[in-house]
Amino acid sequence: MADKWSKHIWKSETVCKCNCGLNRMSPDIIKAAEVARFGVNIKCYNDPKYWDILFRQPDYPDEIKLCITSGSRCQAHNDKPQKEGGAGGSRMSEHIAIPPKPTMKSSDVGQSSQAFDGWFYYLSNGKQIRIDASEVLIYMWDMEFIGGLILYPKKRFHVSTGRRYASWKDLRGAK
Ligand SMILES: [Zn+2]
Repeated sequence: MADKWSKHIWKSETVCKCNCGLNRMSPDIIKAAEVARFGVNIKCYNDPKYWDILFRQPDYPDEIKLCITSGSRCQAHNDKPQKEGGAGGSRMSEHIAIPPKPTMKSSDVGQSSQAFDGWFYYLSNGKQIRIDASEVLIYMWDMEFIGGLILYPKKRFHVSTGRRYASWKDLRGAK
């Protein structure tokens, strides 16, 4: 398990993209990622309530896959604009992780990332076909997640377990 956070989430997927090596994820966001990658398939293929998510796709997918594009970020990489190779995140982004300060005080634990970005897709003749996250994640609203979902263009999304954004409940009505 040294190279994994959980059964289906690899540590290499969440490490800061600037090569600083920072990789701190909160247990809650790993739980959310695990559900998004594995739980989503269990739910969609076993619960008839969710079958139309699959039927709405151009081909009936064998498996819904999750691509994680961003997890932990150091402040510098987060703040750097995208056109300069950074993440171009907001200054207080929930992706930001902070290592514990080198101090004698054991109370400083730093901060773990509470967010990941990515998209859902399935393979059709070797081609990636993206699936709308709001459809796939709809059942997560039944779960006790604190945090939210932000939808970006091109079916990309951001999931957080922090308190900064709208709750799953709020989003249910928003559609
Ligand atoms: Zn970094």
